[in-house]
Amino acid sequence: MSARTARDKLRVAHELRRRPLVAEAFAAGRLSYCQVRAITRVTDAGDEVDERLLAVAEAGTVADLDRAVRHWQNLADQERGVDDYLRRYERRGLRAARTYDGMMMVEVVLPLEEGEEALSLLDGGKPGDGGSREPASPAQRRADALMERLRAGTSGADRYTLHLVTDVDAVADRLGMGAELVDGSPLSVETLRRLACDCALVRHLFGGGSEPLDVGTRTPVWTTAQRRSISLRDQGRCRFVACERRTCDVHHVQHFADGGPTSVANGTLLCPRHHTAVHEGGFRITGEPNETLSFHRPDGSVLGTTTARRVKRAA
Ligand SMILES: [Zn+2]
Ligand SMILES: [Zn+2]
Repeated sequence: MSARTARDKLRVAHELRRRPLVAEAFAAGRLSYCQVRAITRVTDAGDEVDERLLAVAEAGTVADLDRAVRHWQNLADQERGVDDYLRRYERRGLRAARTYDGMMMVEVVLPLEEGEEALSLLDGGKPGDGGSREPASPAQRRADALMERLRAGTSGADRYTLHLVTDVDAVADRLGMGAELVDGSPLSVETLRRLACDCALVRHLFGGGSEPLDVGTRTPVWTTAQRRSISLRDQGRCRFVACERRTCDVHHVQHFADGGPTSVANGTLLCPRHHTAVHEGGFRITGEPNETLSFHRPDGSVLGTTTARRVKRAA
């Protein structure tokens, strides 16, 4: 007898010991060994299941019985799959940790199925920065796609409100000479101005000690209508020379801290990279967003100009 046949017979013997209905039918000659072997492939079955299997065995052929057993096994596999999924689903989570070099590590734990779905959504979607010139690694493209999707999901009316802590002596101009986030991360004034371009800032002023002096009013934010209007005019793409990215902030060409209005005629779309280049990188923009904008390198030379893709007059 082959090892496999021997294992089969042992399995059948063990199952018969704990399944009286099947053993009884086999002993009485109502079941063939083939039928018993098929029935005992169904494990974890109670008397109720056995009764039904016996009924199938008596009414049909061995092939019918085989089909019934396979069906039962498929159902059992599916149920096990659900339990297994639910167990793994319980472990899902998203954790974020700030690092000392100004980055944030975000760890997302998902059941494998959803993780694969997330990756294919991030990798598969048409890259929003199709026209960008700088090569990006696959990891960078995923990060860009993630931010693009998260931002697309917000209403846009009030993207977020940033709470800042700043010192009373530091408020030299309307935005202050530097501040920190509520968690203590320092912000340069240029970064502060960039963030303030497209999100509400609430300033918490402190005196020399740490007594709160004032919770400032929120800085101006773009209304949904203004945002839509600017996005229409710029066709949803960064206005910087030779950039086609679609994930954009709305930038004040003349900063509101310098008296620039929060209006369509003073707002333009810039992708995060070029928004950073303008605020922290020393690039400068002159001109009129509804017409032509000139982009200047940090040394003052002109990099190029772009014109409004669709002229839309609104204030
Ligand atoms: Zn800006
Ligand atoms: Zn750009």
